[in-house]
Parts: sequence; C-alpha cells; structure tokens
Amino acid sequence: MSKRVLITGAAGFLGSHLCDRFIAEGYRVVGMDNLITGDLKNIEHLFPLENFEFYNHDVSNFVHVSGKLDYILHFASPASPIDYLKIPIQTLKVGSLGTHNLLGLAKEKKARFLIASTSEVYGDPTVHPQTEDYWGNVNPVGPRSVYDEAKRFQEAITMAYHTFHGIETRIVRIFNTYGPRMRLNDGRVLPAFIGQALRGEDLTIFGDGSQTRAFCYVDDLVEGIYRLLLSDCVDPVNIGNPDEITIRDFAEEIIKLTGTSQKIIYHPLPQDDPKQRQPDISKARKLLDWSPKISRQDGLKITYGYFKNFTKEELEATKNNKEF
Ligand code: NAD
Ligand code: UDP
Repeated sequence: MSKRVLITGAAGFLGSHLCDRFIAEGYRVVGMDNLITGDLKNIEHLFPLENFEFYNHDVSNFVHVSGKLDYILHFASPASPIDYLKIPIQTLKVGSLGTHNLLGLAKEKKARFLIASTSEVYGDPTVHPQTEDYWGNVNPVGPRSVYDEAKRFQEAITMAYHTFHGIETRIVRIFNTYGPRMRLNDGRVLPAFIGQALRGEDLTIFGDGSQTRAFCYVDDLVEGIYRLLLSDCVDPVNIGNPDEITIRDFAEEIIKLTGTSQKIIYHPLPQDDPKQRQPDISKARKLLDWSPKISRQDGLKITYGYFKNFTKEELEATKNNKEF
C-alpha cells in the first residue's frame, strides 16, 4: 500500500511543488489549504488524479483527516513580508495554533511531522553565513516578528512534541526560494522586479541595495526537503543556495534577463530588513548528501519564462502589489 502524506499550504508556491513531487514518487497526497495566499490554479492539474485529494480548510482550527497518514508536511503560512504584514494575526495563529493542531494529528496517526521553518528565525543575523547553531537576532516586537516569532514558536513546540510525546519530527529552515507559481504581487523581490520589468515600470530597490540574499531554485529546495523527511535528522537543517548577491546586483541581473529599458529607483528600507543572509549548508551536504544544482542564471530563465506568459490584464491586476 502506498504511503499517504498530508501537505498543508498545498495551493501555495512551495506546497504545490511538494504535491507534484510526492505524486511523482507514488505517494497518495492529501492537500489542505484555506487559499488565503494560495491559488487553486497551482494544483488544478492534480484534481483528476486518483492519488490526490484536496480540503479547503483553515488549519488554525481543529484538523481532522480520516484514514492513515504516514507523513505530515506543514507548509501553511503567509510567507512574504507584504502578506504577513497584512494578516499578522492569521500568521501568528497558523504558526502556533495550526502547528499545535497538526502535531496533535501527527500524534494520533503516528505520522512523521516536518515543518517549514525559515532563515527568518535568524532575524537580522550577526553571524554570517548562518549555521544552524546560531540562535538569531530577532526583534520580538518589530513588524516582522509576527512571522519570525511564529516560526520560532513552531520550532519550539515541534521539538517539545518530539521530546515529550516521541513524535518523529523534522525541521527545515528554508532560505529565499524562487520559481514558477510565485505570485507576481506577493511583494518578494524576484516577482516584484520581474513584474515591474514586464509592465514597463522602474525597478524598486528598498534601501541602497547593498543588503544581500541568496536565492535557491524551487526544485533544489524540494529535493532537500524530500531527503530531510526520509533522513533521521531531528535537529533543524538549513536548505538554501549559498550563492549570495546584493539586491542591487540582482536588479541588474533582472534588467539584463528581461531586456527592460527601465531604470532602478530607490525606496526606504523596511524596518528590520535583514542586511545580509546566506545559508551555511555544511550540515545538509554532510547528512543529506544534498547541495543545490541549479544556477541562478538557469533558474531565473525558467522563472522568467513562466511570468512571460501572463496576459496584460493579469499584469495590470498585480500592479503596485495591491491585490492579494
Ligand atoms: P505561499 O503563500 O505561496 O503558500 C502558503 C500557503 O499556505 C498558501 O496557499 C495559503 O493559502 C496557505 N495558508 C496560509 N494560512 C493557512 C491556514 N491557516 N490554513 C490553511 N492554509 C493556509 O508561500 P510559500 O512561499 O509557498 O511558503 C510556504 C511555506 O514555506 C511557509 O510556511 C513559509 O513560511 C515557508 N518558507 C518559504 C520560503 C520561500 O522562500 N518561499 C522561505 C522560508 C520559509
Ligand atoms: N526588496 C527590494 N525591492 C522590492 C522588494 C524587495 O529591494 O521591490 C528587498 C527587500 O527589502 C529585501 C530583499 O529585497 O532586502 C528581499 O526581500 P524579499 O521580500 O524577497 O525577502 P526577505 O526580505 O523576506 O528575505
């Protein structure tokens, strides 16, 4: 009998790619999402499949799934700064109450439980690159704290269920990931720049653009998560691509890729915006024999190919990142 996996946040960017991967590996997949930042379009191709079920449900409320579950992957959560700033309470609830509900389900089903944690647990890091044993530098009452602290609590309660209830748990700390199915208006830097280039708008850099990020292509991330789930690694593991770049250089790369003749304009840096970020992936290399394979150049080409298919109307609808 094939294994059955519950994936929360299934209609989102990462959740939908995970659904595809587990279906391709022969699992039965139960997707769950309340569509607050997700889109059924991301998984509509799975609806005709016998191995796929979908439930429209808010996991911050009690979660019931009948039948066996071998694995639970908790990916439901707003993930981009403009999303979690618009819906801060839901963000805190899905990281805390949602995680608690799903841990209860994992206990009942004797399922292995994996959470999508984040590089944001390191806050604005004073250690560079970030290793898993760095405890972070998070402002607990700053605007980003609704996300960062929810994720830190999520790690804490997951570890507590492991220690006190013997639940099998895994924690992936995901660094900035990109690829097809990101929302053009989710406010994250890559869809923001590509959307602006496609609409003929200037590219908006926040701050002076000297802050850094390191971008991982989604297929590499999914491979890392798959390996982590099947490993016996209980402590958190960073998954990301260490190829670090300043936001200014990144904007130049997007200008070159899209051939736009627009210029760069500068806006104020949001409060508590991390100045630098790069994953140390020694642990993933050693324990999971994993490292990213897709260069930023190749990943950006694929992602631009996806966004290029958007109609003029779709591009207009996502102007100024106004729509959800
Ligand atoms: P996304 O917004 O595309 O997907 C999140 C999904 O969760 C959406 O479909 C949304 O509707 C759903 N959701 C939110 N709250 C819910 C609730 N209460 N009940 C049910 N469904 C709910 O974001 P994403 O980029 O795919 O991120 C997925 C996960 O990965 C998140 O937990 C995020 O914190 C984590 N993560 C992502 C990144 C990244 O670079 N994309 C980095 C670090 C961590
Ligand atoms: N950023 C930017 N212009 C934009 C959107 C984002 O310069 O239009 C910056 C943002 O301030 C941050 C970096 O790009 O320094 C990455 O932002 P994103 O929201 O993608 O991810 P996060 O800050 O959560 O890593």
